[in-house]
Amino acid sequence: MNPLDSKSLGPGLYIVATPIGNLGDLSPRAAAILSHADIIAVEDSRVTAGLLRHIGVKRPMLPYHDHNAEGMRPGLIARMATQAVALVSDAGTPLISDPGYKLVRDARAAGHAVVTIPGPCAAVAALTLAGLPTDRFLFVGFLPSKAKARADAVAQVAGIRATLVLYESARRTAACLCALAEGLGDREAAVTREITKTFEEAVTGTLSTLAARYADAPPRGEVVIVVAPPGEAPAASAEDGDAALAEALTRLPAARAAGEVAKRLGLDRKTLYARALAMKG
Ligand code: SAM
Repeated sequence: MNPLDSKSLGPGLYIVATPIGNLGDLSPRAAAILSHADIIAVEDSRVTAGLLRHIGVKRPMLPYHDHNAEGMRPGLIARMATQAVALVSDAGTPLISDPGYKLVRDARAAGHAVVTIPGPCAAVAALTLAGLPTDRFLFVGFLPSKAKARADAVAQVAGIRATLVLYESARRTAACLCALAEGLGDREAAVTREITKTFEEAVTGTLSTLAARYADAPPRGEVVIVVAPPGEAPAASAEDGDAALAEALTRLPAARAAGEVAKRLGLDRKTLYARALAMKG
């Protein structure tokens, strides 16, 4: 069924992405689903009422947010047997640093249809602005706000060979950039801000220069930080190979020592084997 052509929707759960600033980003399909849903589960009814006003409709809303989700979920799941239930968040894609995954899980377990209406997402929009590699990225969401927990969380992702995407509040941006510089090294990064709004910008630089820039003047509005992957590890030298071989030869015969070191340091096995024989001789 094409929901744009229909006045009524089949029962089930409809996950509807909404704009992250520019209301023009609401897709026609999203508008059609919101117009015809029997009920819309919302984070904040004032925010969603503004969006509905923009498309000229009124629909019943029920609150569904971090503080009431457990209590609200069974009722919403029961409704999906006969009603079209739409889920929206205040901005962007529901479930992305927003409530919803348990609703999807339980809706499917109850045998209801689950349909997604994709659209704006600040994380993906930030990646398109940052000018950093996009072939592999890790969405980190919000780091913890306490310094020790934040440093631990940064240490957990330090070795990951992917661009990192983080949500952060404007006032914690400088502290977050400092923690990233300390835990990851001074990588290239971008602070993207107010995406799709009047003052949209992407400021690029190393983590430490960005931290210094925002230390006394926090960015205004909403922020996504994007951090480049770690640089390639420097190639192991012949001296590194000799040192590793000398150690391996205390445990292993020459051929196995050469094989182990070749694998670990990415050096040529035949050259290492010849070297190991020379060292033994
Ligand atoms: N579900 C949303 C999405 O799809 O992007 C994210 C919700 S999360 C609670 C809110 C965070 O998203 C903000 O703190 C900010 O980091 C980021 N964000 C949302 N809108 C933004 C915008 N227009 N510009 C930059 N960041 C934004």
